[in-house]
Amino acid sequence: MQCVSTRGGSVVSLSEAIAAGLAPDGGLFLPVQVPVLPPAPTSAESLAVVASWLLRPFFADEPLEAHVDAICASAFTFPAPTRWLEPETGLLELFHGPTAAFKDFGARFLAECTARMPVEGRIRTVLVATSGDTGAAVAAAFHRRAGFRVLVLYPDGRVSARQAHQLGAFGDNVHAFRVAGTFDDCQRMVKAAFLDRELQRRAPLLSANSISLGRLLPQMAYYAQAALQTRARGLAPVSFVVPTGNLGNAFACLLARELGLPIGRVVLATNSNRVLVDFLSTGRYEPRASVATLANAMDVGAPSNVERLRALFPDASSVVEADAVDDATIRATIASIWQRHGEAICPHTACGVAVLERLRGAGAQGPWLVAATAHPAKFDTIVEPAIGAPCPPPEALAALLAKPAHATPMQPSSEALSNALLELA
Ligand SMILES: *Cc1c(COP(=O)(O)O)cnc(C)c1O
Repeated sequence: MQCVSTRGGSVVSLSEAIAAGLAPDGGLFLPVQVPVLPPAPTSAESLAVVASWLLRPFFADEPLEAHVDAICASAFTFPAPTRWLEPETGLLELFHGPTAAFKDFGARFLAECTARMPVEGRIRTVLVATSGDTGAAVAAAFHRRAGFRVLVLYPDGRVSARQAHQLGAFGDNVHAFRVAGTFDDCQRMVKAAFLDRELQRRAPLLSANSISLGRLLPQMAYYAQAALQTRARGLAPVSFVVPTGNLGNAFACLLARELGLPIGRVVLATNSNRVLVDFLSTGRYEPRASVATLANAMDVGAPSNVERLRALFPDASSVVEADAVDDATIRATIASIWQRHGEAICPHTACGVAVLERLRGAGAQGPWLVAATAHPAKFDTIVEPAIGAPCPPPEALAALLAKPAHATPMQPSSEALSNALLELA
């Protein structure tokens, strides 16, 4: 399928768009049209089967088309179950992957795609800046994969202790750097490296940023599966609340609805970084510096996928709604869901649950699911005091936390990053 940048530019194949990450003109790639899907599989099919059905049309007439089943079978090896807390209110659990957050789905799909696009004999460096979850998911997806090395930059002292440990625990071809700066510094350094032609000649880079279509498109699969399952139960089209930072996960939900899946309303839940809420209510997009909140993976002041949203939906406020949740409400929601349902939820998921409670209060009917974006044990220092009980990590996370961790300190400068890249190359 052909793709084009949100800023115009030339048409490329989906494989080229996935390999490139960002478009050369600085825009974000979008498919030129939304493909027509063949008849849906039954709701009893596995996530891998639903993903192949949904994604194969995007790869039509591309070299990867013949590999889509294998890519999905290797990427979607864990489920995205729905847990209904009440007859029509539930959680879509997206944290059963190796690093216990939804980013495992996109990172693994991207890794499976790029591993099937070989470049002769060169090791590609996957370079990623992370505010916590992305780096771990990308590191896990490329860990010990021949032909790749991973370089992760994270802001020292600004990710949770468990997130930091996780990033430093992979070893082998994964190199973690703790940057003496903010996430914005990390992101700026990574962007500069991608624009540095001479550096790229000496150390070929691969982008695993959340703006990559290779991460965005596979995220449609779990919304599609949940929508088909809800319809099979005889319920009305399911609506979703999606905890949102860069708008990647929620954009995939909107795209799944565009493809014709039975999805009702799509509502973004942000933390106190309310730029999307203000954009949808005023029509003016005003990016600003991010503020630190309990839901740190959503501390985004300039959500990158806004550019995609505006390109695909010029009248954005007619297709998506948004509401913001402050830290006090996050804590109170974690506590109340624990008391009422015995369910521990992470601070990001709590934003979604709080927004759904407001929607129900305003009369919202029918089935609703909140995307549960991370396992609560990743944020034990917030969740445990709120519920007054221990929050043990799932098996894969526990295994990583049991390993020793190492991260190299790095100054927040482009020179420091290029030196590290050249040293490894
Ligand atoms: C990344 C992340 C988000 C935000 O997702 P976007 O696609 O950036 O909107 C929400 N929750 C968790 C746990 C995350 O890791």
